[in-house]
Amino acid sequence: MEHARAPSIPVAAPTIGEREIAYVTDALRSGWVSSIGPYIDRFEGAFAEYVGARHAIAVSNGTVALHLALHAMGVGPGDEVILPDLTFAATAHTVLQVGATPVFADVDPMTWCLDPRAVERALSPRTRVIVPVHLYGHPADVTALRALPLPAGVRVLEDAAEAHGATVDGVKTGALGDIAAFSFYGNKLMTTGEGGMLTTSDDALAQRCRFLKDHGMSPARRYYHTELAFNYRMTNLQAALGLAQLEQLDGFIDKRRGLMRLYREALAGVPGLQLNPIDDRCHGVFWMVSAVLGDELAVDRDEVARILREDGIDSRPFFVPMSELPHLKDFPRWGASERGCPVSGRLSHRGLNLPSGNGLSSRDVERVTGALQRALG
Ligand SMILES: *Cc1c(COP(=O)(O)O)cnc(C)c1O
Repeated sequence: MEHARAPSIPVAAPTIGEREIAYVTDALRSGWVSSIGPYIDRFEGAFAEYVGARHAIAVSNGTVALHLALHAMGVGPGDEVILPDLTFAATAHTVLQVGATPVFADVDPMTWCLDPRAVERALSPRTRVIVPVHLYGHPADVTALRALPLPAGVRVLEDAAEAHGATVDGVKTGALGDIAAFSFYGNKLMTTGEGGMLTTSDDALAQRCRFLKDHGMSPARRYYHTELAFNYRMTNLQAALGLAQLEQLDGFIDKRRGLMRLYREALAGVPGLQLNPIDDRCHGVFWMVSAVLGDELAVDRDEVARILREDGIDSRPFFVPMSELPHLKDFPRWGASERGCPVSGRLSHRGLNLPSGNGLSSRDVERVTGALQRALG
């Protein structure tokens, strides 16, 4: 069988340079290859400081970060967790993994993130946690969520997997909720290969996450385990890579913002094309450059993706809404003014993520926007 030609402009590729090679080599030479070692402490310390939270707890990936946070907060059977219908499946899967019920709320058509009006309708006496997802790098308005008449004890878990360094009213993601989960998967804004991080300023919750991620072993007595727990540790090698990436994160974000400006300028004249949300208060980091095709564009999204691929340009459809997945479709869902999540459905079927990696040149952006305009006819 003939292999398909690799796209010459990928959607996202990590930026790995000399600093990453130096730190990982140093970690290898030190012999500290598992989850104890100086880079773990340095990475956690630097990440907490970057975010503006008291604690950062490194874990094996973003999915277990979400799971650990829910488990550590005692969320379980009978509890409800409100999350956006439009997200990556891990946000919903981890709710099911702790035995709780996911309740899907629609997103706002302007921000693509949780619509506070939909969340208000989704609240019930069983609500324990709200999980705003900072979709494609745009931070959800956590301030507006917190201003809702929430039942006592409801906590906010940010899914910050896609928005390292984004801010709301000057506060970084990771410091907006009670606890936040980050991912360092290879295509995210910064990577450790596989990896994740929890951030929180709640001392007790941080301590509980540390205990649960390492087999629930008593800090006072080795091999004395006091409850069922997990191995969700990150390695020192991953932390070395992560620290090198974190030291360059602001540069990566500047690069993304620059790319976004080029895309906006080139596509400004295309009617009916909605690019990533921009907002005075919620500053995004544009993990993905995203385009949503308006109704006036009579072209099919998948057809646009096919035409781009013929030009050697990679793209990705938006996530499929949770309520359209076979094993999740029967859970409750709430829109801003009706049952169901029509905005998530529309964005999902008309949204396309365009090449967004740090390595993109202005020539690449010209090629992509030219091809896109041709595809839109
Ligand atoms: C990537 C991602 C995750 C999962 O992170 P992994 O590190 O791949 O486990 C969770 N939520 C969202 C929104 C993501 O984009």
